[in-house]
Amino acid sequence: MNPAHIPVPILIVDDLPENLLSLEAVLRRDGLEFIKARSGTEALEILLRQEVALALLDVQMPEMDGFELAETMRGSERTRRIPIIFLTAGVTDRARRFRGYEAGAVDFLEKPIEADILRSKVAVFSELYLQRRQLAVQRDNLKAFAEENLRLLKESRENAQALKEADIRKDEFLATLAHELRNPLAPIRNGLQILRMAPEGPRAEEVRGMMDRQLTHMVRLIDDLLDVSRVSRGRIDLRKARMSLQSAVQSALETSRPLIEDNRHNLILDIPETPLWVEGDLTRLAQVVSNLLNNAAKYTPPGGEIRLTMREHDGQADIEVADNGLGIDPDMLPRVFELFTQADRHLDRSQGGLGIGLALVSKLVEMHGGTSRAVSEGAGKGSTFTISLPLSDTHGEFAGEGLQKKQTRDAAPLKVLIVDDNVDSAQTSLWMLDLMGHRGMVAHEGVRALEMAREQTPDVVLLDIGMPGMDGYEVCRQLRQMPEMKNKTVIAQTGWGQESDRQKAFAAGFDHHITKPVSLDLLTQLLADIRLTAAKAGDPQHG
Ligand code: ADP
Repeated sequence: MNPAHIPVPILIVDDLPENLLSLEAVLRRDGLEFIKARSGTEALEILLRQEVALALLDVQMPEMDGFELAETMRGSERTRRIPIIFLTAGVTDRARRFRGYEAGAVDFLEKPIEADILRSKVAVFSELYLQRRQLAVQRDNLKAFAEENLRLLKESRENAQALKEADIRKDEFLATLAHELRNPLAPIRNGLQILRMAPEGPRAEEVRGMMDRQLTHMVRLIDDLLDVSRVSRGRIDLRKARMSLQSAVQSALETSRPLIEDNRHNLILDIPETPLWVEGDLTRLAQVVSNLLNNAAKYTPPGGEIRLTMREHDGQADIEVADNGLGIDPDMLPRVFELFTQADRHLDRSQGGLGIGLALVSKLVEMHGGTSRAVSEGAGKGSTFTISLPLSDTHGEFAGEGLQKKQTRDAAPLKVLIVDDNVDSAQTSLWMLDLMGHRGMVAHEGVRALEMAREQTPDVVLLDIGMPGMDGYEVCRQLRQMPEMKNKTVIAQTGWGQESDRQKAFAAGFDHHITKPVSLDLLTQLLADIRLTAAKAGDPQHG
């Protein structure tokens, strides 16, 4: 409420009720409120409860007279500054004394009171009171304003600090990124050198295995990087279906087992036999579990123990990955799920990552309506990561089936047209297809690809998107115009793995979209599927 609208309280003290009434009658006007007391004691009681702007004191009262009351008021901190007007029958010695040491806030009016004088004196004091009250409000506002300014200053200092830290983390991240991406390149280049010098030497197989591992590692880093940027821009679409968590764990184990075994860890599985069903994206949940298993393998000294437990409770499933490795410092623990967080940069990071894995884990789990948490007793005491996911109660299609390897009967080889302007890429794809027992052929640009498709009618076209001249989208559109190519399989092969790129490819008529470098496993699986579908469709070409 605006303080100017609160009435100004005025205390009137007189032992005679008729005096009280007549004083009030003389003074009554808007904005004033009269509090009446019939004795000094009553007046003091009132003053204990509330503040007043002015006290009008009758001097002649039984028991405590006006001066005694005034003395008592002066004696207390609460009331000593209240202005007083004495109403006296004549100016006495005592009154003069009082005036002597309390000038200013004390005044005297002799009875009979002249109404006009009394009114104007009361008006002066109530005006003073209002100004004081206004000042107090302004002082409170100023104080609040200053406090708010301080708070804002503190907040902006904190923001600046957070920005500075983010900037440092970004720089560190870029350094790590460059380092981590360059790491695998050295052994790959060495490997190439060795293979060139001794292609069939005793080391050749080992070297190829090493090169494959390094390449896989590098591809994983880049995939993580793309995933995390997609997640942070909210551009990952989950392909959800009813699936068992066991299938996700199975798939994760396939991915992580080599790393676990390389480090000679003892892997203990505690997984219920009854399937735990969730509505989820099998690939993404497998990625989540495999990230946790990989971390457990990386951050545990060789020969450690990794325990994967799956449990059901209260309509949700917990998957827990516990290790007895390096553990996590308490001050680091709350931040492990943040992007680019890494504990110890001096650690041997030869199998390290970019500080992205756990950020991805928590985002993907969140997108499944679940939660992630990390527990560690501290450095050297091992770590336990748990994700909880809501169980599904609906019945739907089982996504796991699609994953099971389909057996291909001994079918005729597929004719595969490889279209890629990168000669090396095309040549190695050709070799891979050859090794798989298919018949490959190569075109290095779009027009030639269309000619070859017309002449040879390939079963599958493995088509690069970014090519000079006619790009892959256009080639695909034109392929789809040819009656003989309408039902053949066209696979987009690109370095661009964003969801929008996939959509664009499907719109242009592609059947599949795979990102480079194409993994042999994926291509084998895809071609086997195509062969199987063709066989099922009763295509006379394929047994
Ligand atoms: P990265 O492994 O690429 O560094 P992550 O996001 O997967 O990134 O992990 C972030 C950090 O959390 C790691 O650098 C490591 O310091 C710590 N961390 C993750 N998992 C474990 C674990 N099982 N034991 C100890 N520390 C871990």
